[in-house]
Amino acid sequence: MEIKNNRLVGVPFRATPNVGGLIKPIYIVMHFDAASNSTSAVNWMSDPKSKVSAHIHISRDGVVTQLVPFNVKAWHAGKSTWKGLNNLNDHSIGIELQNTGSQEYTTQQINAAIEVCKAIKSSYQIREIVGHNDIAPGRKSDPGKQFPWSKFKAL
Ligand SMILES: [Zn+2]
Repeated sequence: MEIKNNRLVGVPFRATPNVGGLIKPIYIVMHFDAASNSTSAVNWMSDPKSKVSAHIHISRDGVVTQLVPFNVKAWHAGKSTWKGLNNLNDHSIGIELQNTGSQEYTTQQINAAIEVCKAIKSSYQIREIVGHNDIAPGRKSDPGKQFPWSKFKAL
């Protein structure tokens, strides 16, 4: 995978109004979408009523959709703190994986997420890949204990 003009080349782009200003991402935040179907998850993140979004959504069969350019703020982290920084939306790229919350992740979606993270790392000065639960402990539990952290920490 390759990034040009802050977008993954060859990946469908679904614009959302749920964005802020320009950012310089230094973290990647992993999430699950708590949705049973990826069309409704992507529709929800594109709906101005939801006030949520993420840069990337990955379905259970590994289909990647981009909603926000990587240099623009998406609304995925909410109130959050990590290593002295607050409001991680100002400093991070958010990746949502389709998962109701109790499912295992599929091999296709984890492989797709690894390829996306590698492409992001090659284009931005990423310091760390973290979970939503790391930056909003007590409030958020995603991406959950079934998330294969060892594969991502190795990146
Ligand atoms: Zn989350």
